[in-house]
Amino acid sequence: MSKQDHSGKLNLKSLPMGQTQFLKHDLKTKWIEQILVEAQENSTIDPQTQSTIELELEVTRQQAPRLKDYLIIEGKINSTYQLPCVRCLENSILKMDTDFSVCVLDEDLEDDEAFQDLDSYIIGDKEYQLYFTKKRQFNLESCVHEQFFMNVEYLPLHDENCLGLCPECGVNRNLETCKHVTKQ
Ligand SMILES: [Zn+2]
Ligand SMILES: [Zn+2]
Repeated sequence: MSKQDHSGKLNLKSLPMGQTQFLKHDLKTKWIEQILVEAQENSTIDPQTQSTIELELEVTRQQAPRLKDYLIIEGKINSTYQLPCVRCLENSILKMDTDFSVCVLDEDLEDDEAFQDLDSYIIGDKEYQLYFTKKRQFNLESCVHEQFFMNVEYLPLHDENCLGLCPECGVNRNLETCKHVTKQ
């Protein structure tokens, strides 16, 4: 286990060649906590439920003739987060369990026509999302941010049978009945 960098940046050149580094981040890391804060900014958080986010990474620096010096990152995000139900606005507790595979190339290759207009790259038989360094650093923070928000539930329901609010009078139909019938 190496010293853990919490800055949200990975320095391509400072990682040992060919060895896999295992990194773990959770809410104690400021930028990870910030992702959860942003995701839940319109939520009424249930104090009984702990929102969490955990990130696990396997980072390997490699070399290949075509790719030069590059990073392979296998990542996993686990999270419990809370969003308002789209039908009744009640708090919904949601889980995320997502994997991602990333290949980070040096910025010198960014203008190489072999990589232009590519979002992903296949190495072996596996597809990797393609990223480039900036000032020799990989912005892990913005990558994880992207992965998280790509996987956030966009139609959260507090319960799949949620009856929602009455469009006529606004009554929460999960709790009360009213005289309005929704026309089909
Ligand atoms: Zn609901
Ligand atoms: Zn009604």
